[in-house]
Order: sequence, then structure tokens, then C-alpha cells
Amino acid sequence: MKHMSKQRWILAALLGAASVGARAEWVKRVDDGIMGTRITVELWADDKAKGEAGIDAVLAEMRHIDESMSTYKPTSEVSRVNAHAAEGPMAISKELFDLLVTAKEYSRITDGAFDITYASVGYLYDFRKRVRPDEKAINKALPAVNYEHVILDARKRTVRFTQKGVRIDLGGIAKGYSVDCGIEVLQKRGFTRAYVAAGGDSRIIGDRFGKPWMVGIRDPRGAPGSVITRIPLTDAAMSTSGDYERFFEEDGVRFHHIIDPHTGHSASKVRSATIIGPRAIRTDGLSKTAFVLGPEKAMEIYNRIDDIDAIIVKLDGSVIYSKGIEPAPTR
Ligand code: ADP
Ligand code: MG
Repeated sequence: MKHMSKQRWILAALLGAASVGARAEWVKRVDDGIMGTRITVELWADDKAKGEAGIDAVLAEMRHIDESMSTYKPTSEVSRVNAHAAEGPMAISKELFDLLVTAKEYSRITDGAFDITYASVGYLYDFRKRVRPDEKAINKALPAVNYEHVILDARKRTVRFTQKGVRIDLGGIAKGYSVDCGIEVLQKRGFTRAYVAAGGDSRIIGDRFGKPWMVGIRDPRGAPGSVITRIPLTDAAMSTSGDYERFFEEDGVRFHHIIDPHTGHSASKVRSATIIGPRAIRTDGLSKTAFVLGPEKAMEIYNRIDDIDAIIVKLDGSVIYSKGIEPAPTR
């Protein structure tokens, strides 16, 4: 076929373009290798390759955060702070400095329930190995737990601990923060509909073409995957803390990974707390409060904070809601 007619040539070109060209679609990936938790990213992409590249960038950002914030990694910036900040002021990255400022802010608004220096006692627990400190060890470590021991100098961008024995751990906001960073990475690349989750911390931008995203709240005593309800969300973050996440039981007592900074024991006043708000660092930071302060006192604090809502599963399994999302009474 030496000479194609003009029409046939145009038709062939169109078909060719269609077969190699872009097609918008949902792209999703689940990764179990970062921060010891499950990362899920789902987004709407003009074409699959762009979507996959966006997801790669989100995961790379999360790996970077894990590298600098993990207390399991002796080379991380946080581990270096824990090793040396009691000796004198240490210059730290802007990223870590800003996180420490935020952590202290959350300590203030939660009456000290959220406290990254919980780790001064918390490091004595190993929930995977069923290890917990005895009363003597707790009492010895407890004076080092107090967010006021962390001194920040904004001008010099330094951190200092007022005494030896102080340790920090950002596990209570790191996942939420990494979710926010992941969303930012996607927004910079032009994505407008996406879901990013790290364990129980998630955030959403946009909707699913006229429909909200439905995000489940896990049933604290149900099988993995079972939910007590699903919340419709667009442009919002949601975090759930649960006593089922990392725990062991001894003589009927549940020891789990949220620590009461005042006692050094597991904080067990609720089964789970879910916070909905604008950003995942905020919802993550506030979801631990209910475990430490109990449902009523925590709900009082949650109701005072304008930009969040809360759903708490109490120890008896009943559920309470913050004012903004209280279900209408049934008649
Ligand atoms: P996940 O780590 O699965 O996101 P949570 O959001 O419930 O679970 O956070 C639990 C983590 O918070 C613990 O593993 C620990 O690192 C940290 N943490 C525990 N107790 C406190 C506390 N009182 N204040 C701040 N952070 C805490
Ligand atoms: Mg969390």
C-alpha cells in the first residue's frame, strides 16, 4: 500500500493515538514496608504512568520521614537528639523543629495527655515481645516525662532537654505528618482526587466524582477489616487510635502502645478514638487524648477545638460523638 487516501491516513493516526495514548483512571497501591505500617495511596490520574510516578514520590517522601524520625534507627535525627540533647542545645533541621513546636502545642491543648516525652518511660516497653517495666523502673523514669523538659529556641533552631533521661518519640504524630506530606507531594504534581493512609491515619483531597470517599472506623473488638461505621469524607483527614493496634494481655489486663504521661502505664480509658479534621498531623496528635483523659473529659476538649470532630468507642462498647456530628435522635 503505497498511497493511503487522506481520510484513511487520518483514521489510522487516530486509532494509533487511541491505542498508545493516555486514559484517565484510578490508580491504587498498598505498601507494607514503611514505618512498620500499611501505606495506601489511591488517586485519579490522567494516565496510569503519571499516577504510578505520583505514588512512587509519596512513598519516597514517607521513607525519608521514617529515616529521620524513627527511634528504631540509631542514625535518625530523633535518635541523635535523644542521645545528646541533655548535654546542651543541638541544632536540628527545620522539619524536626517544626514538628517539635507542633507536638508541644498539642500537649498544651490536651492538658498534657499528648506528650512526646512519654518515651522516657515508653522505651521500657516492648509490646511485640510482651515486655513491660515494673513499678520501680516506671517511678525512676517518670520524672523525665514532661513536655516542658523540651526547650526549643526558634532563633537558633535548637533543641535542649533540661535533664538526663528525657527521650522523645514522634510516633504519635509521625504517621499523620507523613500522610500530609504525601498529599502535598500529590498536590504539587497536580492531582486533585486522592486518598493517602498510613495505618490508622488518612487524608483525602477531592471527591469520587460527585460522591464522597467512605472511610471505615474499625470495630475495636471485631475481626480485622470489620467496621463500626463508615464516614463520608471529602477534603478531610481522619485518624483512629485503638487499643487493639499493638498490645499484649497479662492476667486479663491489656497493655498497649498509648502511654499515660502521668502514670507511665498504658492509657486504657477507651477502646478507640477517631478524630476528623483538616490535616492528618492534627487528627493523629489528638486521637490519643481520649485514652489518657477518658471519654468525657476528652470529648470536652474535642468539642472546644473548632476544626475537629470526634467519635469515641467507650470501654463498654458504646459510641459517643462530638457536637458537630451527633446523629439525630431516633424516634
Ligand atoms: P499509630 O502509631 O498506629 O498511628 P496512634 O496514632 O494511636 O497509632 O499512636 C500511637 C503511638 O503514639 C505510640 O506507638 C507511641 O509512639 C505514641 N504515643 C504513645 N503514648 C503517647 C502519648 N501519651 N503522647 C504522645 N505520643 C504517644
Ligand atoms: Mg497514628
